Amino acid sequence: MSEKRKTAVVALGGNAISNPDQRETIHTQFAQTRRSMSGILSVIQAGYDVVITHGNGPQVGYELIRVEAARGQAPEQPLGVLVASTEGWMGYMIEQSLMNRFKDDHIEKSVVSLVSQVLVSKDDPSLENPTKFVGSTYPEYEAYRLAEERGWTVKKDRGRGGLRRVVGSPEPLDILNADAIRFLLDSGYVVIAVGGGGVPTYKDENGHLEGVDAVIDKDRASAVLGNRIGADDLLILTAVEKVALNYGRADQVDLDRMTVSEAKDYHAIGHFQAGSMGPKVQAAIQFLEKGGKRVIITDLDHVAEAIAGKGGTTIVPD
Ligand code: ADP
Ligand code: MG
Repeated sequence: MSEKRKTAVVALGGNAISNPDQRETIHTQFAQTRRSMSGILSVIQAGYDVVITHGNGPQVGYELIRVEAARGQAPEQPLGVLVASTEGWMGYMIEQSLMNRFKDDHIEKSVVSLVSQVLVSKDDPSLENPTKFVGSTYPEYEAYRLAEERGWTVKKDRGRGGLRRVVGSPEPLDILNADAIRFLLDSGYVVIAVGGGGVPTYKDENGHLEGVDAVIDKDRASAVLGNRIGADDLLILTAVEKVALNYGRADQVDLDRMTVSEAKDYHAIGHFQAGSMGPKVQAAIQFLEKGGKRVIITDLDHVAEAIAGKGGTTIVPD
C-alpha cells in the first residue's frame, strides 16, 4: 500500500507575480511568475498534492482602469466579471509557467486552472459598508461625480492621497468547484483555483447563482477551500519570511511558531495589520479550527525549509 499523500493549499501573494522594483508589464509578470514556480516545486517535492491559489489586487485594478478608459467603445464589464477575467488569464500564466518548469525538470505532472465561484451571503455586512479600495485614485470633485454617475461608494485612501472606489469584501462561505478540485488532485493534477479569492456569488430565492460586484480576500477563500477538500496544510507565501509581533518597530519579534490560541490573543491586541497580515492569521485560525493540521506563513525563498520546520512561521492547533 502506498502511504496516503498529503494535500496543501498554497496561496501565492502579490509578490509571486509582481516585482516591486520593476515597472509592471505583461513580461515582468510572466517572468516573476516563472521564478515563483521554484517555491511550488519545493512543496510538490516534499510529497504534497497541491492546489495553488493567488491574489489579483493590482491586476483587477488595471482591469477597472481599462473599463473606464474604454467607456463608450466597448461594453462595460462589472467587477465580478473582471475578477473572473483575471482568474482566467492569471490561471493561464501560472499554468503555463508550471508546465514549462515541469518539462525542464522532467516531472510528469499535469496542471489545470479553474475559474472558481465562491458563495457569499447577500446580506454580508461588508456589502452594505464597503471598505476595500479598488482601481484609480481621483481628486475629490471627480470622485464624487463618478460615485453619483456609476453608483460607487468612494472613500479617502490615506496611503494614496485621494479618493478611491471601495467595494465589499464578503466572507467566503463555500467554494463551488471544491469537489472538482478534489477529484482533479486525486487524479494527479496540480490545480490552480480561487484566483483573486474567486468570483463572489450568492443564491437568490430560486436557488440561482448571481454575481456580486465585490472582491473576496484570497487568504480567507484559501482557508475555506482547504477545509472543503480536507487539506492537511495551508501555505501562505507572501513578502516576509516570518510573521512578527510589533511589526516594523525597533522591538519587532519574529515568530517561529504559534498556536491558534496565541494567534487569537496576538490578533486581538493588534499585532497583525488589517488588510495584510490580519486576514492571513484569521485564515490560519479558521483553517486549523475546522480540521487543518498546519499553517505556514513564509516567503517563496523559505518554503522548503519551512515545510521541514526550519523556517517561516508555523501555526498549529492548540
Ligand atoms: P500578499 O500579497 O502576500 O497578500 P500583503 O501585503 O497583503 O501581501 O501582506 C503581507 C504584508 O503584511 C507583509 O509584506 C508585511 O509588510 C505586512 N505585515 C503586516 N503586519 C505584519 C506582521 N505582524 N508580521 C509580518 N508582516 C506584517
Ligand atoms: Mg494580501
